[in-house]
Amino acid sequence: MAPSLEAPDDEVRDVLANPLKKKPDLVAPEPEHCPGPESEQAGTADSCAGCPNQQICASAPKGPDPDLPLITARLADVKHKILVLSGKGGVGKSTLTVQLAHAFATNPDTTVGVMDTDICGPSIPKMLGVETETIHTSNAGWEPVWAMDNLAVMSIQFLLPNRDDAIIWRGPKKNGLIKQFLKDVQWGELDFLLVDTPPGTSDEHLSVNTFLKESKIEGAVVVTTPQEVALLDVRKEIDFCRKAGIRVLGIVENMSLFVCPGCKHESKIFLDHTGGGRGLAEELGIPFLGSVPLDPRIGIACDYGESFFDSFPDSSACKALKGVVKGLVEQIGLDPEVLLPEGDGSS
Ligand code: SF4
Repeated sequence: MAPSLEAPDDEVRDVLANPLKKKPDLVAPEPEHCPGPESEQAGTADSCAGCPNQQICASAPKGPDPDLPLITARLADVKHKILVLSGKGGVGKSTLTVQLAHAFATNPDTTVGVMDTDICGPSIPKMLGVETETIHTSNAGWEPVWAMDNLAVMSIQFLLPNRDDAIIWRGPKKNGLIKQFLKDVQWGELDFLLVDTPPGTSDEHLSVNTFLKESKIEGAVVVTTPQEVALLDVRKEIDFCRKAGIRVLGIVENMSLFVCPGCKHESKIFLDHTGGGRGLAEELGIPFLGSVPLDPRIGIACDYGESFFDSFPDSSACKALKGVVKGLVEQIGLDPEVLLPEGDGSS
């Protein structure tokens, strides 16, 4: 019989449902088939046989991570925590995160934070025009960088001595940094914290979910492009959300059409043979938040760290983005007329 890549159900439940356990001090790196030194099976699983850490893992306390209450306390003044996910890379997830942040920040009474957990490819600081900033620390913790008076951002980019440095970290180190972001960054009072995650269903997703579980995640926005190869991965992402108990607030289809900024002619770059993001949303019973056309001016605005909403408010892409934001706001039970006074939501 061919070996199964699926983890057993109880292992999946342990990883997804339980708070992270405190990791013991290991004497050797975790082997490839490690169930996780923080897991309930640590040291006792069949795959632990012969591992130099076995005794340490087996005898380590199996209590919840003591940092979880600190994270919950730190984020107590953040009203709405929203994950932005994508099944695969290249669908414009970080770009959409930045557009959502700018859209919320158009209301001067709304304060927004963006946490960039794409540790190996942080792009949010560049898109928000704060790429060269560094963070300040005090006894109270790390200060986020303020891209606007009401828009703060935290990213590993700010910790790098050289912006071209590659981050080559294994899972535990990445998880440690995500925990530090959540535990030590002084976000203060925020209306929204948008958490930009790397593509797929990796360690970083598990970490963000388990660390934020106690302080409540509002849900996830899932970004895709119309073609089937992207939708296949989106299905996995949505399955991950369901298993992890994360509400899917809606699907956004990015790059639905290319609208020529010159002649306004519309053409399809990716063909939606199976109904695209809207078809998938209908099939899975998930809200469809809207389709956003590919507009090269969005990329230019991101390259220059400018707000596309301010630069091209009358473009069809801007109107489509406003529609997405309006749908998202409604999904979390808020009034778009109050929150987005200038958003007409038309697309
Ligand atoms: S003993 Fe098991 S859980 Fe601990 S490091 Fe080794 S394989 Fe991983």
